[in-house]
Amino acid sequence: VMAAIHGDRKGLVLPMAVAPVQVVIVPIVYKGKGADVIDASRDLARRLEKAGFRVRVDDSDRKPGVKFYYWEMKGVPLRIEIGPRDLESGTVVLVRRDTGKKEKVHNSQAVKAVGKAGKLVLESLGARARENLESHLSEADSMEELAGILTEKGGFVKVPFCSREMEGEACAERIKDETEGEVRGTIFGKEEKPEGMSCIACGKPAGSIVLVARAY
Ligand SMILES: [Zn+2]
Repeated sequence: VMAAIHGDRKGLVLPMAVAPVQVVIVPIVYKGKGADVIDASRDLARRLEKAGFRVRVDDSDRKPGVKFYYWEMKGVPLRIEIGPRDLESGTVVLVRRDTGKKEKVHNSQAVKAVGKAGKLVLESLGARARENLESHLSEADSMEELAGILTEKGGFVKVPFCSREMEGEACAERIKDETEGEVRGTIFGKEEKPEGMSCIACGKPAGSIVLVARAY
């Protein structure tokens, strides 16, 4: 669901909390000027790791543009570029994956800037994900209706469901068999209490409203 909601044409966009790599540092290396740029990148990586961030320095031989594309596709939320000119001015370039916005910050302030930018990414992803989800949200209260919506429109469908505990598993299976839809949980952990509704699979009183979607 994360990939389905937080994606764009360049691939994934991951929020900081779940990103395996939160910050990728790309040293912009030119002939004869490589070593100190890589040193500075590693030094910044150490400071970020000490502050609790998951960091990768991409000092491979690939061209910077190729590295940018690769890490964007992986969904790494923040990128830092350090080139020889940045070394002279004591700055780094911080780039947000979600907006592509670039910002020059002082190297000494980089850890703080990463923390701030990470929060901004999270906020904008949350808002975008909610909008995206809401625009793809339907409701159904029977299997036939659910199957119809999943076939014609797709997206996420809210349905009344008996129980998200063990006893609901058979119902989740039935929904999958009959509609090819998978029970994907509730909206952002929001628990909706259905009043007087029945589980669309077994007909018992519904204990929650769940989202159903087909696999992508
Ligand atoms: Zn049920």
